[in-house]
Amino acid sequence: MTSGAVEAARNILTRLHEVMASRNHAQSKLNNVVEVIGECLNSEVCSVYLLREGMLELYATRGLAQEAVHVTRMAVAEGLVGMIADRIETLNLAEAAAHPDFSYRPETGEDRFHSFAGVPIVRRERAVGVLCVQHVEPRRYEEVEIEALQTVAMVLSELITNADLIDEEDVNAAGSLQSGPQQLRGLALVKGLASGVAVYHQPRVTIEHIVAEDTEAERQRVILAFDKMREQIDRMSSQAEFGVGGEHEEVLETYRMFAYDEGWTRRINEAIDSGLTAEAAIERVQQRTRMRMRQIDDPLLADRMHDLEDLANRLLRIVSGQLGTAASMGLRNDAILIARNLGPAELLEYDKRRLKGVILEEGSLTSHVVIVARAMGIPVLGRVRGLRGVVREGDQLLLDADQATAMVRPPAGVVEAFEARFAKSRERQAGYAALRDVHPTSRDGTRIQVMINAGLRDDIANLTMTGADGIGLFRTEFQFLVSATLPSRERQTRLYRDVMEAAGDKPVKFRTVDIGGDKTLPYLRHDDGEGEENPAMGWRALRVALEREGLLKVQARALLEAAAGRTLHVMFPLVAEPWEFDQAKEVFERQLAYLRKQKKTLPEAIHYGVMLEVPALAEQLDILAPKISFLSIGTNDLTQFLFAADRSNPKLAERYDWLSPAILRFLRRVVRSCEGHNVEIAVCGEMGGRRLEALALLGLGIHRLSITPASVGPVKELIGKVDLAEIGAAVEGWLAAPPPDLRAALTAWAAERDIAVD
Ligand code: PEP
Ligand code: MG
Repeated sequence: MTSGAVEAARNILTRLHEVMASRNHAQSKLNNVVEVIGECLNSEVCSVYLLREGMLELYATRGLAQEAVHVTRMAVAEGLVGMIADRIETLNLAEAAAHPDFSYRPETGEDRFHSFAGVPIVRRERAVGVLCVQHVEPRRYEEVEIEALQTVAMVLSELITNADLIDEEDVNAAGSLQSGPQQLRGLALVKGLASGVAVYHQPRVTIEHIVAEDTEAERQRVILAFDKMREQIDRMSSQAEFGVGGEHEEVLETYRMFAYDEGWTRRINEAIDSGLTAEAAIERVQQRTRMRMRQIDDPLLADRMHDLEDLANRLLRIVSGQLGTAASMGLRNDAILIARNLGPAELLEYDKRRLKGVILEEGSLTSHVVIVARAMGIPVLGRVRGLRGVVREGDQLLLDADQATAMVRPPAGVVEAFEARFAKSRERQAGYAALRDVHPTSRDGTRIQVMINAGLRDDIANLTMTGADGIGLFRTEFQFLVSATLPSRERQTRLYRDVMEAAGDKPVKFRTVDIGGDKTLPYLRHDDGEGEENPAMGWRALRVALEREGLLKVQARALLEAAAGRTLHVMFPLVAEPWEFDQAKEVFERQLAYLRKQKKTLPEAIHYGVMLEVPALAEQLDILAPKISFLSIGTNDLTQFLFAADRSNPKLAERYDWLSPAILRFLRRVVRSCEGHNVEIAVCGEMGGRRLEALALLGLGIHRLSITPASVGPVKELIGKVDLAEIGAAVEGWLAAPPPDLRAALTAWAAERDIAVD
């Protein structure tokens, strides 16, 4: 803003403040407003159009015929006024009639006026009206005047809201008029259908007060907020929202650049000088940037614009003290959560009854937030570019993760068709539920073990619901993730006991804490407090547990006590070398000896197992196999290490295929290495829950799968249709001479036999 603009705006704002504080009726306030603006800008005409029943209606004017007030109405997108509302854009014309969209309204008597400038009146990112000025003399308005108008339009939006001059329904409808339905495409991270309203994980702030009482105080508030925001950004690399490494670094760099940008701070301060509150000043500057950016058609710039929007919103949240996420405010309706990315703990904070789906700008199949969502049965669409530019808080959304799409602001016909598909999908689910008591057996009569992955108390119910053979992977760290502090031994014991009790005779394989990577705990940091460059390959899982023996000792005691009189299955994550297993087992054995000495009831039996996630372990399986009872292959981590491709890096999300010869050959080698040893082999990564992949695993001779509960029905159905010898021979053939596209070959094989795999 130039100093002239600051002065002009300040002048108008002071006078408007008086008008708004008066006890006049809303309409007469509006009449005064157009007078004040007209006088201050020395403008012959000043008019306000507001949205009513979907039309822009002339509500007040100085200079046009008074008979036209509440008579002249235009559709959004009709004429210059409509165009400003439709595009949320400023117009500045020396000769209005020369514009192709000009629409002449004789009742207003506007034919005398040549120049025209108009700005949208915006509420919640929707145009709810238009403020315009006109002159007889054909001239373009100066930047100073336009900026003053834009500031005044903000004040008007407050006046309009407070005076109830516009219906909430009209505000909401404004959205659909302006941008209509739109389809989003992404990557299906968790399949399923859902409908609900869009809720931003980081909610947009609603600005209550626009005109400042004390400019100096507002200035101080902004300075403090900037300091706090910069501090946050400097700390942000370790936050779940930002994941780790790769493109996140770029985003953070952009954030830093904006956060320290002097031009941005200056413009906000100028807006405060013109009489706005800190919140209004931030929004005012943001609106102006938005308008400018809208005119530039460049996808890279649009991405940066989202970053700036994020940052402005963050600044607004700090300044207004509205810091909580949408989870802390509670969901009021069925909601679809919108975010750039999320951490697993953040997702777990939401009310499961209301959270119906998640749409992310980023995300990858095996990131833990996706694993948690899958366990919660919540569909997730990820990798949706420009998501936050299209979806607004409160928009209606239909999420179809089966087709990897979502529809924003859907028209009625689409809603109907969606509902019909939704009903069909529920029917299919009911069909799978009917398989609950079926013991999964292949066509040739081999009993296959289908277990579920779990981690939370609520997951226990899935065991009965699916009729699974047990819990093949209980991620004990989930309890740690949802706690604000390290869970005490008593709390751990209680959870493990409850889980075992609920499982009855079915086995539960407890995996000791796997913290680190994308599962960070604020209360458990690396000793030197430094962030790691490659946390997935860093200080995590058993590595933490062996170093912080206290952690594993407490967990061992909790598990052993909880398993009193029962069979305990323990497995250790991320074992790379046999000695790590020996050390971990030793921690358990010492605790067992202690309990024995204390004359406590001991577990009836203890079975130790290991997760195969680090390729190096495969080289020493012959050494490890005699020591363990079971081996669970964690294909999520294994794949990232085999391909050297970070599992939570969205850029790599679609790059490598579980059905590649490299992975399948590797798994075959693991299966062969265990032959002749008394070791049960299972797969517990996400791979096993997808039917086509499960088919390949059956072909490799893997007869135990631990999968997400929603996949149990579909996988059971698959098993019943497969002849193991037949698929075994097919897989063997493909691995000996890999076809160019193994996935396609397997799909065709299944189709020929009428085996559904999607
Ligand atoms: C895996 O890595 O495949 C696994 C099952 O463990 P998590 O996904 O919890 O790392
Ligand atoms: Mg793992």
